[in-house]
Amino acid sequence: MIKRIQINSTRRCEMIDITPQVAEAVREAGIDEGLCTVYCPHTTGAVTVNEGADPDVAADILARLERLAPPDAGYRHAEGNSDAHIKAALVGPSVTIPVENGRPVLGTWQRIFFCEFDGPRTRRILVTTI
Ligand code: ZN
Repeated sequence: MIKRIQINSTRRCEMIDITPQVAEAVREAGIDEGLCTVYCPHTTGAVTVNEGADPDVAADILARLERLAPPDAGYRHAEGNSDAHIKAALVGPSVTIPVENGRPVLGTWQRIFFCEFDGPRTRRILVTTI
């Protein structure tokens, strides 16, 4: 079962906690045990699982990615957003999470994040539960 989550990012780069929406999509799938994949079908966005308790962790990740791929570094891509493509490539387009008792299995501090690297935009994330 595939569910789509719509996300409206509000900044050029941000990490948005989508854990509640993913949990709801898994619940709607009605599966007790299995897997869910959370997939970003956009070339300048990404998905990751990381700490959600301290917002400074997300801030540090974004700050480091900004240093690894600064916006203006002599890229060839004419659209002018190569830094966003590079950040998306580094983080990756999807995660797979075990499902147990109808819920995604996450560690105490883990949250599921959509990573926006070329916002603000409207994005769609696919949650496939099997
Ligand atoms: Zn581009």
